[in-house]
Amino acid sequence: MDKLLIATKNKGKVKDFKGLFSKYGVEVYSLLDLEDEIPDVEETGSTFEENAALKAETIASLFHMPVLADDSGLEVDALDGRPGIYSARYAGEEKNDQANLQKVLTELEGVPNDKRTAQFVCVLAIAQPGQDTMFTRGTCKGTIIQEPTGENGFGYDPVFLPIGSDKTMAQLKPEEKNNISHRHHALVQLETWLKERTK
Ligand code: IMP
Repeated sequence: MDKLLIATKNKGKVKDFKGLFSKYGVEVYSLLDLEDEIPDVEETGSTFEENAALKAETIASLFHMPVLADDSGLEVDALDGRPGIYSARYAGEEKNDQANLQKVLTELEGVPNDKRTAQFVCVLAIAQPGQDTMFTRGTCKGTIIQEPTGENGFGYDPVFLPIGSDKTMAQLKPEEKNNISHRHHALVQLETWLKERTK
């Protein structure tokens, strides 16, 4: 694999992936580098793996090159793993972070602190034409607090207290979040895979 297309327009994610892959001699492109508009791939799978694979495999077959896609979300134990794959659109298709977070808090009303355990999940899928798709999965465990706290980050960060931290994800500095996040753990595993195959 000497070239890889990252299925995202998120500049932060592109930077992270470029930093990692350049160490292994892989040239990284993203949807920001393409002239053509890519059709939105519908997330019709029932797991993070299925949705990441759908995106990666659809775009890999369009461009005949290796493609990396991610899918992520929040799983709350007392809600049987919801919002899970629906995290981005939990309160509706308009994808409103504030409304999503409020819906989770409302559903958790009356649930005591020790029963509010949750985890962020990030799955990365690399699809290569003619080969099996490869997956890595990173998690970050914590609890859902009662009131949103903190201004950084996005999504459910203001209500997520990582295990061992006295600050919510939204109170941590970006680099502090990056060291413990589900995305970080999925990237570390991806690096292990890259090291193995370039041995
Ligand atoms: P995706 O873009 O389909 O992976 O959806 C991700 C959704 O999961 C986001 O819109 C957020 O609601 C939630 N999510 C994923 N990662 C994080 C995170 O690091 N902090 C807060 N929310 C997250």
